Amino acid sequence: MFEAPLQRLIDELARLPGIGRKSAQRLAFHLLQIEEEDAGRLAEAIVDMRRRVQLCMRCFNVTDSEECSICRDLRRDVSVVCVIERAQDIVVIEKTQEFSGRYHVLGGAISPIEGIGPEQLRMRQLMERIEAEGIQEVIVATNPTVEGDTTALYLAKLLKPLGVRVTRLASGLPVGGDLDYADELTLGRALVGRREM
Ligand SMILES: [Zn+2]
Repeated sequence: MFEAPLQRLIDELARLPGIGRKSAQRLAFHLLQIEEEDAGRLAEAIVDMRRRVQLCMRCFNVTDSEECSICRDLRRDVSVVCVIERAQDIVVIEKTQEFSGRYHVLGGAISPIEGIGPEQLRMRQLMERIEAEGIQEVIVATNPTVEGDTTALYLAKLLKPLGVRVTRLASGLPVGGDLDYADELTLGRALVGRREM
């Protein structure tokens, strides 16, 4: 439909989450107008990020070294782990200032419709951490969605026999959305008021 280089960019942009054909075209035409130098900086930032950022070997947070800054922080309480679906949820929980333990990024939630089962998520790695790190409590902070709740129940069944306390964020979070749909205060309260599963 468009000249080849432009069409190529539109196709690449359209593959990003939440960006449809129309938005991809709008972005591409905007990028067509920026200075070549600015375009270079943007392209370089993407390549550089991809090259340098990796996953933390312990919690699967994004990091530029073997372990992320949270896992390396000696002031954090290593006996409590907060399980979240995506690495970006860490920022959301950190903002509440109500949690001082470590994290574990599952990499999604159980979803039969999307063909995601427990074996596609980092549950085995979590179980290994329980013993290796002497974890006493796992706070399940998956999204307040059907998939998030299913995952939480599955985790509770898996972890309780290991003698670990499993808790879930208190209700009161906006149902059906991601964690970051809730404001910091609400999420902070849900953390403090977490309940035994
Ligand atoms: Zn980490």
